[in-house]
Amino acid sequence: MRRNILAVVAAFIVVAGCAGTGDSGRARPVAVERMYVFNCGESTVQDMSRWTPGVNVGKPGAFSANCYLIRHAKGWMMWDTGINDNVATMPKGFQRGKLSPHYILRKPLRFALSEIGVDPEKIEHVAFSHTHGDHVGNGNLFTGATLYIQQAEYDIAFGAEAASKWNFEVTSYDKLRASKTVKLNGDHDVFGDGSVVVIATPGHTPGHQSLLVRLPKTGSVILSGDMVHLQDNWTQRRVPSFNFDVAESRRSMEKVAAIMQKTGAKLWINHDKAQSDAIAKAPQYVE
Ligand SMILES: [Zn+2]
Repeated sequence: MRRNILAVVAAFIVVAGCAGTGDSGRARPVAVERMYVFNCGESTVQDMSRWTPGVNVGKPGAFSANCYLIRHAKGWMMWDTGINDNVATMPKGFQRGKLSPHYILRKPLRFALSEIGVDPEKIEHVAFSHTHGDHVGNGNLFTGATLYIQQAEYDIAFGAEAASKWNFEVTSYDKLRASKTVKLNGDHDVFGDGSVVVIATPGHTPGHQSLLVRLPKTGSVILSGDMVHLQDNWTQRRVPSFNFDVAESRRSMEKVAAIMQKTGAKLWINHDKAQSDAIAKAPQYVE
């Protein structure tokens, strides 16, 4: 695991060091051209303390849920797919259980993609931070893509336990199982140039992962998935008790913190509404 972190950081430094220096005598294109961020669901909860153990007891709260589409010189990659587009047609929104977040969806992802002229079936790469319903809800739109998933996450999603524990989520992307699947056991450099790197961050679920993206102007960002839910949880290293493995969750936070320190990457926290509200949404994009 340690070796994996160092490999990712080393690859990143090599690429970062080469870019823009011009000392090779030829222009080196910036591999990631832009990234679209989509509002893929908004939710409210009655008791925020489920996510912030020890604080906010009995207080309501709100979460964002984003999807991300990366334009790389070698192709498109979708990261997380939000809650299912059908939620947009539900007059009262969607709530799975009494304590679960209550979701609304303002615009289906497939509409948002068509607005920017992107056919989801033509997207080459897709990955989910994990297989919960607010991240895999529209996975079946991307059946032409190669799926990158940790072996541990694949096992809980499609293994013996899947039918009883993960049913709602699995039916949202079961078609992807027939597509090309790359099962990972750790970090993975998607385009081989250090610009888009899957970082294994288990804890929230057994095979949770985050994504390092090197943007040409913004610099590097790490898309958190549910490695952490809120900025304050990050600062306090606070972990929801419902996570699959609390100790592992903390180790993943420290792993990400180390990568951030080495690379200068910023952490973009998927469910932190205040932070998400400040990020331009599609059809705008970040560079
Ligand atoms: Zn989530």
